[in-house]
Amino acid sequence: MAITRKKAVFIDKDGTLIHDVPYNIDPHHIRLMEDAGHSLYRLKKAGYQLIVISNQAGIARGLFNKSDLLPVNRQIQLLLAPYAVNIDAFYYCPHGPDDGCDCRKPKQGMILRAAEDHAVELPVSWMIGDILHDVEAGNRAGCRTVLFDNGNETEWLKGDWRQPRYSVKNLTAAADIICDYERGRRAYERQVSGYH
Ligand SMILES: [Mg+2]
Ligand SMILES: [Zn+2]
Repeated sequence: MAITRKKAVFIDKDGTLIHDVPYNIDPHHIRLMEDAGHSLYRLKKAGYQLIVISNQAGIARGLFNKSDLLPVNRQIQLLLAPYAVNIDAFYYCPHGPDDGCDCRKPKQGMILRAAEDHAVELPVSWMIGDILHDVEAGNRAGCRTVLFDNGNETEWLKGDWRQPRYSVKNLTAAADIICDYERGRRAYERQVSGYH
């Protein structure tokens, strides 16, 4: 039998899964990226858990509480429901840039925690995000990375960990890459296990 491993697509929220409205917690202002529903459906069908990994410094800045994000989560699930998609888990870093926590991206702590909680194997998993901090967190955690290059990254601060494996202009292209990769991996595993 082919080996089944638990794998995930970690996805950034603001500017990747939904349109970025800075510090927004109002469910009415949440809009999915146009191709998010269909793209996430394809990833789910390919066997990936879908886990949101998001910095929420608005909590550290006193703009809202962690519990204010629950209606946000609910609204995202509602918007994804017509596509037969649900997010398996939401992870938020409540800290600010100067708090020195290990979870705020570009650190990898949130991804590592999510992987542990959900028994995810990182080398067969992916991180998708719209800035290089997402890429760095994904690379440091040991997953494959896709930069959703939609103009939100403006600094392009380069570094050893900040090179994305792939760069795409929309989530459809990200799903194409991940699903293609998955097909290739399955074919390879069938080959090495002698299973056809
Ligand atoms: Mg973002
Ligand atoms: Zn943190």
